[in-house]
Amino acid sequence: LLEVSHIEKNFENTKVLKDISFQMEEGQAVSIIGSSGSGKTTLLRCLNFLEVPDGGTITVRGEKLFDAAEKAQESEEQIRKKRLHFGLVFQNFNLFPQYTALENVTLAPKLALEKADAESLGRIESHGRELLRKMGLENRENNYPHQLSGGQQQRVAIARALALQPDILCFDEPTSALDPLLTGEVLKVIRSLAEQHTTMIIVTHEMSFARDVSDQVIFMDKGVIAEQGTPEEIFHHPKEERTRRFLSGYA
Ligand code: ATP
Repeated sequence: LLEVSHIEKNFENTKVLKDISFQMEEGQAVSIIGSSGSGKTTLLRCLNFLEVPDGGTITVRGEKLFDAAEKAQESEEQIRKKRLHFGLVFQNFNLFPQYTALENVTLAPKLALEKADAESLGRIESHGRELLRKMGLENRENNYPHQLSGGQQQRVAIARALALQPDILCFDEPTSALDPLLTGEVLKVIRSLAEQHTTMIIVTHEMSFARDVSDQVIFMDKGVIAEQGTPEEIFHHPKEERTRRFLSGYA
């Protein structure tokens, strides 16, 4: 489904991503772990076209979405289309404060409509309600973000990302702004998405969660993929000394 090849990213003179390559299949959950500053967020931002890589290619379903060798000037519209392959859930939810939960979920699909007739709008609303229900928020659709807990806000953000039916749902440390109780409710929702074989890339510091839900784990260190494998390989039989050292910090 996704093939990332030789991605490079520099900020001024610092190489933040160096020769990043990995692949994932439809229905898989891939976790990215690693210390602060290892480049995890930058990698997700490159996949979502929020950063432009300095090298490499990104291919989804055989379609090359990005190739650094072709420095084509793209229109906003072209970039927007490419972004639709990926949904992104941020650390700090980033909901629109002036819109209700349901409006947050339905806004982007409504804007993407070619013809905003009553039937299409109705379909988007009922899909939005269905997603909020799946997130356990059926009674919260008319609440504004400030009326919701952090965990509820993050679940609205997940519903919003799902509303555009992305090929790959990306999470950037989805629970790092939450206390342990609220962390649990958000992880539960992501776990159920994994059980339904939603294709996901999850940057996380929650090691036991990564071990339980992932099909593949990528350990990043100083801008490179230091080790990659199944949760069993990474958490129980790491080959690299730096993986062992990193994981011992969580023991
Ligand atoms: P964390 O777990 O703390 O989120 P991370 O692994 O996600 O860390 P990144 O946020 O990708 O790491 O950052 C990797 C490096 O790139 C860091 O040294 C950071 O300071 C640098 N960096 C990130 N964004 C920029 C930017 N816009 N300009 C300059 N440097 C940046």
